[in-house]
Amino acid sequence: MSLDGKIALVTGGSRGIGRAIALRLAEMGAKVAINYVSNPDAAQEVVGAIAAMGGEGRHYKFDVADTSAVNDSIAKIIEDYGRLDILVNNAGITRDGLLMKMKEENWDQVLDTNLKGAFNCIKAVTRPMMKQRWGRIVNISSVIGFLGNAGQANYAAAKAGLTGLTRSIARELASRSITVNGVAPGYIDTDMTRDLAEEVRAKVLGEIPMRSMGSAEDVAGAVAYLVSEDARYITGQFIHVNGGMFMG
Ligand code: NDP
Repeated sequence: MSLDGKIALVTGGSRGIGRAIALRLAEMGAKVAINYVSNPDAAQEVVGAIAAMGGEGRHYKFDVADTSAVNDSIAKIIEDYGRLDILVNNAGITRDGLLMKMKEENWDQVLDTNLKGAFNCIKAVTRPMMKQRWGRIVNISSVIGFLGNAGQANYAAAKAGLTGLTRSIARELASRSITVNGVAPGYIDTDMTRDLAEEVRAKVLGEIPMRSMGSAEDVAGAVAYLVSEDARYITGQFIHVNGGMFMG
C-alpha cells in the first residue's frame, strides 16, 4: 500500500488521531502537510517524528472554520508541493452540554469546526483533484454521529452532517477517480477523551463489546486502507472503528 509521490493534508494532524494518521501516511511514503490551530510545539513534534523516519512533513497553521484561511493555506500547500492528492478532514472539537443549557456559541463552534471545516477543505481541494483525475478524501466522523448522545447534540449533528456531505460529494466526484469516504471511531484514547470522569469511562467501556478503548493507530489503519489503491472502488462508505459498539 505505497503512497510514494503522493501529497497528503491531515487537518488537526498535530495531536491524537490526526497525529497517528499523519505518521501512518508518511510511513507509506506520502509527504504530509500537518494542519493545527493553536499548538505549534505539537505540530513541530509530528514534523520531527516524520523526519526521524526518513519522511517529509511540514506544518501549516489555520483554523478550518475560517474559509479564507483554508483557501490561502491549501493554495500554499499546493504551491509548496506542486499537488495535493489526499485530504483527511480530522480536525474536531467538543463543547458538550444538554441542549436545554447549550449556548448558541457552543453549537456554532462545533458545527463550524467539525462540519463547515470539512466543507471548506473539500471545496478548496476539489478543483486541483479533479484536474489530476485522482484524489482521496476521508472524513473523520464518530460513532456519536450514528447513535446520538445525551449532552452532545451539537457534536452528533455535526458528525451526522458529515455522513450526508460524504455521500453527496462521493457521487459528485466519483467519475474523476476521487473517492470520498469516512471513518467513524468509537472511544479512542486521546486528549479529547482523557478527561472523562471515571464513572463515565466505566459506563462507556460497558457499552463496548471489546471492553477497551481504541487507539489512534486503530483509526489510522482504516484511513491508510481507504487512501490506498486497494480501496479505489470504494466510495461513499464509512468504516466503523469502535470495538463493536455500533455495527453500521
Ligand atoms: P484531539 O483533541 O486530541 O486533537 C484535535 C486536533 O484538531 C488537534 O490537532 C487540534 O489542533 C486540531 N484542531 C482543533 N480545532 C481546529 C481548528 N479549528 N482548525 C484546525 N485544527 C483544529 O482530538 P482527537 O484526536 O481525539 O480527535 C480527532 C478527530 O476524531 C475529531 O474529529 C474527533 O471528533 C474524532 N473522534 C474522536 C474520538 C475520540 O474518542 N477521541 C471518537 C470519535 C471521533 P491544536 O493541537 O492546534 O489544538
